[in-house]
Amino acid sequence: MYDAIVIGAGVMGSATAYNLAKAGANTLVLEQFSRGHTFGSSHGDNRIIRLIYEKQFYTELMKYAYAEWREVEKESGKDLLFTTGSVIIGPDGHDYLHDMRVSLDAAGVESEWWDQRELANRFPQFRIGDGVEVLWQKDTGFLPASTCVLTYLQLAEAHGAEVRENTPVIEINWQGTYPEVITEGEHFRGKKVIVTAGAWSGQILSELNLPLTVTRQQVVYYRPTDASLFQRGRFPIFLDVTWDQVLYGFPVFGREGVKMARHGMGQPVSPDTCNRTPDPEYIEHIRSFLRERIPDAAGEALFAQVCLYTETPDEDFIIDTHPDCTNLVLATGFSGHGFKFASLVGRILSEMGLEGKTGFDISPFRLARF
Ligand SMILES: Cc1cc2nc3c(=O)[nH]c(=O)nc-3n(C[C@H](O)[C@H](O)[C@H](O)COP(=O)(O)OP(=O)(O)OC[C@H]3O[C@@H](n4cnc5c(N)ncnc54)[C@H](O)[C@@H]3O)c2cc1C
Repeated sequence: MYDAIVIGAGVMGSATAYNLAKAGANTLVLEQFSRGHTFGSSHGDNRIIRLIYEKQFYTELMKYAYAEWREVEKESGKDLLFTTGSVIIGPDGHDYLHDMRVSLDAAGVESEWWDQRELANRFPQFRIGDGVEVLWQKDTGFLPASTCVLTYLQLAEAHGAEVRENTPVIEINWQGTYPEVITEGEHFRGKKVIVTAGAWSGQILSELNLPLTVTRQQVVYYRPTDASLFQRGRFPIFLDVTWDQVLYGFPVFGREGVKMARHGMGQPVSPDTCNRTPDPEYIEHIRSFLRERIPDAAGEALFAQVCLYTETPDEDFIIDTHPDCTNLVLATGFSGHGFKFASLVGRILSEMGLEGKTGFDISPFRLARF
């Protein structure tokens, strides 16, 4: 019997396996595809990490998550957290920006309001007119997503975890004291089983009828007129908030081009049948925004990729024990903003796996709220 079995090696499962193995637990990881695959939610060049949230409990948790990312950088000897600062641009009086500022102030995190002139001084790449305000926060940055997943798995293995790739879990038999995990032709038992199955969570935990919607998302890289204008140090992470959408972008990293995406608003899909070819209309939609807002980044699309969000109705995570089996823990519904928390979620799940509880406040993530 294993001390812990982790189902799913996206960023949440990989970080959990690392924490479990590091704490000395005999850990098995089961992943249906090969490590670093591109069918789930954790692949790609980067994800935003930020303290800025409208809900203060996320900002408080992010303080710990930043520290955990720095720890894993130290242990792995790899750069995993790149700080760039961020600007959030929105129409005057938009609640989103104000709620973020209130939450940052309450959490004791510094931020600044900039006017049009200040933005033009600091980042002349942007074109903004009147009636727009800008929130600057210096600690925002990005995490090299696929590298983070691979690093966590390598470290987990170095601490003794066993990682089995191309091993789909068909069923979890949770009726006994210790859950039994069934794959094609094999059965495993774990004192604790932790399900971090992302977009497939609803399938493997079908008895719970989880309130999850899987949606299709797309990211696109555009050729800048002059790439030097969009390097780290010269260009920040940015979010552009309008009354009907949130677009965001990154400095150049990992591949040629300025990476852009729209947050959310993707079609509901099945993770097994989702169309993985990006839509030309979407690519053009973002490009027309760039022509107005950042004309020097509005060149041809160089690369585009599809990724999945697993959304809860309130966009808050689910981290809890199974209501009918205390030895089965689940973490899902990261709703398009979970990556930055993975360093902390891994620690929390490991604590829940080994001690049956965590000292971190995860009350907003209880399943019973639905
Ligand atoms: C386009 C895009 C942009 C994003 N931007 C940000 C951002 O800027 N900042 C941020 O913080 N977050 C962001 N996110 C969200 C973040 O990436 C996700 O919240 C996070 O990656 C979720 O990780 P996960 O481990 O839960 O899911 P996944 O990465 O999908 O991992 C689940 C794993 O479980 C495996 N699995 C499933 N079922 C089984 C089974 N039966 N047997 C074995 N294995 C199984 C899957 O194959 C998969 O590898 C973004 C997401 C997308 C798609």
